[in-house]
Amino acid sequence: MALIMQEVSTEQQIEIPEEVRDILRQWRPTPLYRARRLEKVLDTPARIYYKWEGVSPVGSHKPNTSVPQAYYNKQEGITQLATETGAGQWGSALAMACAFFGMHCKVYMVRVSYDQKPYRRGLIENYGATVTASPSQETEAGRAILAEHPDSTGSLGIAISEAVEAAVTHPGTKYALGSVLNHVLLHQTVIGIEAIEQMEMAQDYPDVIVGCTGGGSNFAGIAFPFIGRKLRGEQDVRVVAIEPAACPSLTKGKFAYDFGDTAHLTPLVKMHTLGSTFVPPGFHAGGLRYHGMAPLVSHLLDQGQIQATSVDQTETFAAGVQFARAEGILPAPEANHAVAGAVREALRCKEEGVSRSILFNLCGHGHFDLQAYMDYHADKLIAYHYPEDEIAMALAGLPSI
Ligand SMILES: *Cc1c(COP(=O)(O)O)cnc(C)c1O
Repeated sequence: MALIMQEVSTEQQIEIPEEVRDILRQWRPTPLYRARRLEKVLDTPARIYYKWEGVSPVGSHKPNTSVPQAYYNKQEGITQLATETGAGQWGSALAMACAFFGMHCKVYMVRVSYDQKPYRRGLIENYGATVTASPSQETEAGRAILAEHPDSTGSLGIAISEAVEAAVTHPGTKYALGSVLNHVLLHQTVIGIEAIEQMEMAQDYPDVIVGCTGGGSNFAGIAFPFIGRKLRGEQDVRVVAIEPAACPSLTKGKFAYDFGDTAHLTPLVKMHTLGSTFVPPGFHAGGLRYHGMAPLVSHLLDQGQIQATSVDQTETFAAGVQFARAEGILPAPEANHAVAGAVREALRCKEEGVSRSILFNLCGHGHFDLQAYMDYHADKLIAYHYPEDEIAMALAGLPSI
């Protein structure tokens, strides 16, 4: 209930509970670095800064919300959380948070990642959580998909349906979502709030903020506090969301009411969507393979307060490798989208001969994604683009409102 109240809250600020701060303090504030060696490699007059969220125990921004979500559920007597995970980032973050608060965690993991990313699964299980490949025989939703597509590789939409069903059918169990919803975005704003103070310490202010968008939470986390300042007339900033060309909800989706999951168990939300039945091609940024987008991020795009661009995975991996060689940090495939966006902005500065300040969110490390990097170096990555026919079909099935 506390999370639902945050979901519909009109407060500008909500205090982080002391018990949650005690945990976040282990890795927060996260560092903000200036990418001086990358600037040199790009030979750009731009000043590039990145906020490094990969220092959390599971290696991404996700614990910023998994910890408070587990905390509030524990407060209300819940004993088990059910959830979905794509690449395994959210599953590991929630499993860790549940371990901290003595709760059980049940994770439905998209089949393709379950098979291709055994180490993330191992990490989740090590925190004491149970992992099931989705679609599974455990739920009505899973069985219905398997009856039609026995070889289904799954999708976030399907896994969400299974987790929601598991929560509804098991006493003491609630469902937890790792992105998209207002309260999740709220929890992630700790990133941008810290960045405002850190940019002040660096005696600079971003002209441009770049983030990658799957469901929109890490992007909102870094950008919203700055957009708040802009909307209050304090300081202007340009904000760019970078999404995969193979799953382009912001640039090619419709701004319409849609379901958050494939089995249509969730309430309808107005968001940029590719249709709840859309299953994106198997590109490597599993965390960016969601058909929808956070309603708040969708609204800002609709209002012209932010911009959105899509990039294909060969460009994102090229940027990620360039970044690793210059800065030493190996980004997650999702984070490579933000790196590619920042590189584009820096090269534009060079073309125009102007020095702008660019801030991007480096939302996670890629230590569990080395197969993807090996495939990239072996020229095995396909530059998937917008699967026009499939998206048209999925959009034709939007609920009529
Ligand atoms: C989950 C995840 C994403 C995508 O989710 P958002 O809600 O859009 O942030 C991006 N990067 C990493 C590293 C992730 O774990």
